[in-house]
Amino acid sequence: MSAAKPTADAEDVIVIENLNKWYGNFHVLRDINLRVKKGERIVICGPSGSGKSTTIRCINRLEEFQEGSLVVDGVEMIDDVKNIETIRKDVGMVFQHFNLFPHLTILENLTLGPIWVQKKPKAEAEATAMKYLERVKIPDQADKYPGQLSGGQQQRVAIARSLCMNPNIMLFDEPTSALDPEMIKEVLDVMVELAEEGMTMLCVTHEMGFAKKVADRVIFMDAGQIVEENEPNEFFNNPQNERTKLFLSQIL
Ligand code: ADP
Ligand code: MG
Repeated sequence: MSAAKPTADAEDVIVIENLNKWYGNFHVLRDINLRVKKGERIVICGPSGSGKSTTIRCINRLEEFQEGSLVVDGVEMIDDVKNIETIRKDVGMVFQHFNLFPHLTILENLTLGPIWVQKKPKAEAEATAMKYLERVKIPDQADKYPGQLSGGQQQRVAIARSLCMNPNIMLFDEPTSALDPEMIKEVLDVMVELAEEGMTMLCVTHEMGFAKKVADRVIFMDAGQIVEENEPNEFFNNPQNERTKLFLSQIL
């Protein structure tokens, strides 16, 4: 049976329809449906193991899926390598662990992709890198190595590194959960600024203050399904599903 192609209207930058994924026999994602409009800010929350990371990793093809369809920026996600490359160019991703190259300076970490993938001249790549290091408020760290920076600074470098590739969409997978409490705010502040500038963002996070401040929609996942979604006020004050209520009672 062939499912109808998703009918993306012009504003939808991500369209996921009936996405199903298995790890072997384990049905990890079950009929995920999600549309994200340009400039929308989505927060995804839910218990550990519910499929949050797997969902966002499917969006830039770090994971394969077996059923359903996924369109990013008008490009259908299929096995064609060209399509995967096109989508990776448009989508930046920030992980829990910063994944910086330890033997390269901060500036070299930021210019690597633009120089080698995007074929930008070095001077231009460095100018862009400095612009984004200023935006995340650590231009003075440019010549240091990742190991010389705090966790919060390293995560801000990771965000700047993604921005250097000029993405249309930013995915965040629990970007503050490996950080000491005093460093969480400096990373969230950068994410709030990015949201206010109109970046399309999908953030897996349990930082509910952040969700209330910037999210247009909060999505709650459990056992591989989207169980509930709503705008933040309704989501937090008036959750409908029993599993959402239980989850919120545990984290709030
Ligand atoms: P979350 O991000 O919500 O904590 P994940 O998407 O990481 O959840 O994982 C969802 C489920 O899939 C978990 O039960 C996890 O153990 C399982 N899983 C994740 N990655 C793999 C893998 N590579 N192989 C098999 N199972 C996996
Ligand atoms: Mg996860």
